[in-house]
Amino acid sequence: MKAKTRQIRVGNVPVGGDAPCAVQSMCNTDTRDAGATLDQIGALAAAGCEIVRCAVPDMAAAEALGAIKRQSPIPVIADIHFDYKLALKVLEGGIDGLRLNPGNIGERWKVEEVVAAARERLVPIRIGVNAGSLEKELLQKYGHPTAEAMVESALGHVRILEELGYDQIKISLKASDVPKTVAAYRLLAQRVDYPLHIGITEAGTTFSGTIKSAVGLGILLADGIGDTMRVSLTGDPVDEVRVGFEILKALNLRQKGINLVSCPTCGRCQINLIGVAEEVEKRLSCIDAHLTVAVMGCVVNGPGEAREADVGIAGGRGEGLLFRNGEIVRKVPEADMADALIAEVEKILAEKH
Ligand code: SF4
Repeated sequence: MKAKTRQIRVGNVPVGGDAPCAVQSMCNTDTRDAGATLDQIGALAAAGCEIVRCAVPDMAAAEALGAIKRQSPIPVIADIHFDYKLALKVLEGGIDGLRLNPGNIGERWKVEEVVAAARERLVPIRIGVNAGSLEKELLQKYGHPTAEAMVESALGHVRILEELGYDQIKISLKASDVPKTVAAYRLLAQRVDYPLHIGITEAGTTFSGTIKSAVGLGILLADGIGDTMRVSLTGDPVDEVRVGFEILKALNLRQKGINLVSCPTCGRCQINLIGVAEEVEKRLSCIDAHLTVAVMGCVVNGPGEAREADVGIAGGRGEGLLFRNGEIVRKVPEADMADALIAEVEKILAEKH
């Protein structure tokens, strides 16, 4: 069961409480290039991304973010380090959320100005602790960026906001090491009821990063921890969104698009099942409705899985049996399997509408 956290809002997206875990990503375009950034936000939103973050390295980026925010179809969070003026500028531009660590902003009056401007607009602040940039004192105290050190760092930043009476807070504690990240979030979840943004940072390329993220975020989500999530991949951010939803779907926490059930094939398989499964997955990737589609190699497990799916195919020798809602529709020659499955899915979608 999901841990009970307070609810905040990032733009129109509720975060925490009983809201489902929202899928985030981050643009890797130059924020100063508003056109390129908006193009990428459009692609992310089309893939289902619910909140997007953009880096704000300088004042030109902060200024561009105002125009980006106004045209973005999803809420935009500004990622800011050190410079309070950048935070004030993006708040003025109508940003939906800040990612900023108040302890890194410098003098107290600067933090007070940022918090006052955020409070005026009810803009939440995400405290984002990263194992790679922990405070020197904590590294001296703990020797390494341990889970305890990360939690202490986060609580230090939280205290600053609490002292200023600001509770529109979200927290993340990211490390590239999966067990350490999991341990840190578990510790933090016992200490606070603010919503938590989860992620494995610097997780690697699409292949290894997907696996690390699935393991780390999977453990946390199964523990009930996680109000928003980002899968960090060295690759196309659109893949971060796709992987994020697959993780949530695998745990039955969200439903989106096709749930593909396909067997790994073995010596019993007498059709090109891998090709059919890949084609079906690709051609149905743009569908938002939640449907289970089974692509199975033979009569051992094929009919059982195909029957349980909304649409399924169980392979035979050069042909397959097409199922819909548990009933056999007809035999289909191997060459027509993908088309037949997709045609059946399209029929279901047409009937639903
Ligand atoms: Fe092998 Fe048939 Fe199982 Fe596929 S369904 S893995 S072909 S036994």
